[in-house]
Amino acid sequence: MSGDVLQRLSTLTLSVKHLGRLPRLADLFPCSLPSPRPTVTASQVPSLFREPYILAGYRPVDQSWCCYLLSLFQRHNESLNVWTHLLAGPVLLLHWWANASALGYTLDTAGLPLCLFMVSSLTYLFCSVAAHLLQSHSELTHYSLFFVDYVGVAVYQYGSALGHYFYSSEPVWRESHIGLLFLPGAAFLGWLSCAGCCFAKSRYRRPYPLRRKICQLIPTSLAYLLDISPVAHRLATMPWEQDPSLPLHALQVASFLLSALFFSCPIPERFFPGRCDFVGQSHQIFHLFLSLCTLCQLDALFQDYARRRDTVVEVFGEQQLWWACVSFPILLLFCILTAVITTRHMHKQLQDNQEKDK
Ligand SMILES: [Zn+2]
Repeated sequence: MSGDVLQRLSTLTLSVKHLGRLPRLADLFPCSLPSPRPTVTASQVPSLFREPYILAGYRPVDQSWCCYLLSLFQRHNESLNVWTHLLAGPVLLLHWWANASALGYTLDTAGLPLCLFMVSSLTYLFCSVAAHLLQSHSELTHYSLFFVDYVGVAVYQYGSALGHYFYSSEPVWRESHIGLLFLPGAAFLGWLSCAGCCFAKSRYRRPYPLRRKICQLIPTSLAYLLDISPVAHRLATMPWEQDPSLPLHALQVASFLLSALFFSCPIPERFFPGRCDFVGQSHQIFHLFLSLCTLCQLDALFQDYARRRDTVVEVFGEQQLWWACVSFPILLLFCILTAVITTRHMHKQLQDNQEKDK
């Protein structure tokens, strides 16, 4: 018995010795990942990349793509803008899973608008993460990725409109003028907000004039006012006690209004220049409130879906539901085309500027 054990031990020792002679993984795959360069001050990056009252923590431009991907784990002034939306994605998926387990979900005609709302939410989160993570690569990348970010916002607006219309609207509101024009109006204003934001971003240079904010805020505000109108009507006319989704809808509206406030005003960095370079910027707070808005919206829409799923097809008709859902990729296509055209325009403009500088 002891001889057998000794034999086994010697075999094991030999195997360990052989393992030691095997080439190491690091030798087989030499670690050639570049490390991102240290962050710099605002004066060391082109004016396009500077944010008001943010004085340091900028990533240098013209590094490799890999450096910007790895900057996910670096401390810079976009870190929290990236992480707030990157973490919101899994949290949203967990909420979907929890709601689907508790209330049930079937991917059929009645469940399609809810699925599209979820797709639209994940799309805007992904586009935002890509824009904030990679935008410092070059001026053209900065422009093109923020145009992609605006595509994500437009798609999210329309996804919300579909959810609100099919699950949260009341018959009285649907028979009103707004109700009758709602879906084509939401699609048009979704595209217009994407086009308005792309135009404003490509047209105006720092220091940005008020017209830039107007071009961005008027179409996006109009789109929001229309998209939220079925929910606002229900909040104003229905008793809240018997309806578990109404407090959640109220919370999504409050979160959105707070997010819009922090998007429009550089608070608190305006009062503490240089103190919010890494934590506490208005854009980070905007991301947090927008993520909260999306979570409350998903929970509220799930409650409404659970209550109305058996009657949705009967009330709206299978054809209208399918048309509404087909319009979703069509809007996405129009927004992508707008972003591509504006990117090509910016590419030409940047090349012309380079020629002039020579
Ligand atoms: Zn953002």
